[in-house]
Amino acid sequence: MDADSRIEMLRAYEFRKQWPPYTYREHWEVTSELLNSFTKFLETENVSGKFMELQPWITFCDSRCTFCYYPASIFRRELVDPYIEALKKELKMYSETNYVKTSLFDEIVLGGGTPSVLSAEQCLDIISFCKEHFNIAEDYMIKITCSTHNLDEYKLRKFAEYGVLQLDMGVQSFNNKVRRMLAIQDSGEHAEEIIRTAKKLGLYVCIDLMYNLPGQTIEIWREDLKKAIELELEGVDCYPLEVYPGTMLDLQIRNGEVPAPGDWKTEALMYVEAVELFTSNGYIPVGHDRFTRVREHIEESCLNGWPWAGILTTGAGCFMGYLGRYAYQNIENPYKYIETVKQGVFPIAKISVSTDEDLIKKVMERLYLRLPVDKIEFKEKFGRFPEEFFPDVIERLKNKGLIEVTDKEIKLTKLGDIWRINIAWEFANTQINLPATTK
Ligand code: SF4
Repeated sequence: MDADSRIEMLRAYEFRKQWPPYTYREHWEVTSELLNSFTKFLETENVSGKFMELQPWITFCDSRCTFCYYPASIFRRELVDPYIEALKKELKMYSETNYVKTSLFDEIVLGGGTPSVLSAEQCLDIISFCKEHFNIAEDYMIKITCSTHNLDEYKLRKFAEYGVLQLDMGVQSFNNKVRRMLAIQDSGEHAEEIIRTAKKLGLYVCIDLMYNLPGQTIEIWREDLKKAIELELEGVDCYPLEVYPGTMLDLQIRNGEVPAPGDWKTEALMYVEAVELFTSNGYIPVGHDRFTRVREHIEESCLNGWPWAGILTTGAGCFMGYLGRYAYQNIENPYKYIETVKQGVFPIAKISVSTDEDLIKKVMERLYLRLPVDKIEFKEKFGRFPEEFFPDVIERLKNKGLIEVTDKEIKLTKLGDIWRINIAWEFANTQINLPATTK
């Protein structure tokens, strides 16, 4: 079958949306009322019964990948000590709240930015601080976000000896032409060597790969996928490129220095290629973009507990935190962040608070995370079945072959997997009538 006929079989919407609802992009500027209400919430008990993720955030990065829109700050050696001091102070402030004292964490994720710009000792010192000040579950895992160009055997060995389970590496592509175009600092060969060393030391490696990049053919993409499989990676997160306004890549495309990425059809075909290659090699699709072959990713509490679990994130620019009904993003500027924490104030820049209606729609967002919606649990929480809130959407999605509905659950079909962001938006954009019994 040629690509055009294939795409016609896959077509369920006019184009693939790139971002789901309820992300940091929809947070509001913080006000003193919102901050007060958040602080009051932190005095309450955590009764969710779910394990949480603790995510200290290293804002620094010594690169500027052309597509990057993350709120990372340029690595300045003189800022590292005051930053780590502030990060620990912020962590301690949270650890002294009732909500956090009554929470149990089963994941410590050193995120960013690029934590691997720090020394191994600095990274492990922050992780040890977390273990000392928070309730950590008996069975827990440690992950560190890294760039291959600032990893070496010494750091890898220290991480492995300490008990780090997994390194999350932003590889994006092994193809050197693509890497140069994205201004990634090291070569594909070097990335591969670092991955092999990490794996020899017993570390799990999970990499990001990007598709639908300018100049990236389906053959180049296939080579990247095959390389990932050959390296026996524990997980691969496949992200479609989104050209974010104001990034270097956006500028280069607008100036004609770099070709535009392919259309949604190219993107969808590249995604299907990834699904086919990974699933036929024993990988399972999990979460928003991952293919995995390990139990830890499938059973991950924070993923399976959505939207009840919680991510406590700290550090300048961190944007993935959610606790109860609150989702928040911290101040980006590291100087301002350090100053705010010094004053004993939570350094929050943006926040949002979910209403009952949002919570109901967030549960339906489990489909976007490739998780089923348990209809019985849903009714216990909200007093009605999903079909009673979303009769038209569910009927439409069923008729399009995007979801399967049984007495117990609603889940995605294979076709629905390709369109899961569009599906999440269908629920988010639907007006619903609430009963008085939601809890
Ligand atoms: S390494 Fe990560 S944080 Fe740093 S510029 Fe590249 S994408 Fe952004």
